[in-house]
Amino acid sequence: MKKGFSRTWRALLPWPRPPGGERYAVCHFCDTLHQSFPVDEGTAARCARCGALLYQNRPASLARASAFSLAALLLMALVHVFPFLTMDAATMRRDLTLVGAATALMEQDAPILGTAIILFTMITPLMLAGGMIYVCLPLMFGRAAPGAGHAAKWMYRSEPWNMVEVFLLGVLVSLMKLAKVADVHFGIGFWAFAGVMLCMAGAVAGIDREELWDRLEVAKG
Ligand SMILES: [Zn+2]
Repeated sequence: MKKGFSRTWRALLPWPRPPGGERYAVCHFCDTLHQSFPVDEGTAARCARCGALLYQNRPASLARASAFSLAALLLMALVHVFPFLTMDAATMRRDLTLVGAATALMEQDAPILGTAIILFTMITPLMLAGGMIYVCLPLMFGRAAPGAGHAAKWMYRSEPWNMVEVFLLGVLVSLMKLAKVADVHFGIGFWAFAGVMLCMAGAVAGIDREELWDRLEVAKG
């Protein structure tokens, strides 16, 4: 009982330092090697030579990353339930969902574009947000989920392929052209997708990689 209590409160304790001697952090801008140590909550470690950010300890990092990821998953569900766009042209009115748009592209002459939309705007954000919850939620209670190390690795690998914002920009640019021939309205799905973009950014920025790996190492320990 006492052990469980202390594990629960470990989530509120400062960034733990994993055992195993000295650790190092390399500056990505000037390659200077620094001895790394956990910093106070709300502060950051900077390169002694060029001042670039090495890593930072964000307040309530685990809770923040989990909450933003959960919100992103809920908004993703809304994206698929509600129409993305509604088009009115002459006598025709058409509701378009994100999956509908991707499958329509695949059925017509652009299967690669349709597959890219499904991969980079649906599967990758799902991997990233799902992975973040799988790794961060148990860590709030001082535990590491089974295979959390692999999950974190794949989560960070999928991060550069999360192209929600690129897609949203593309939609806005095409709409500028489409608006000349049809009356286009944004649906709830579109606004939910914009919310997914903000929540994904918040989730990724919620916890520093250095901190996540340190916490994983201590929880596994
Ligand atoms: Zn530097």
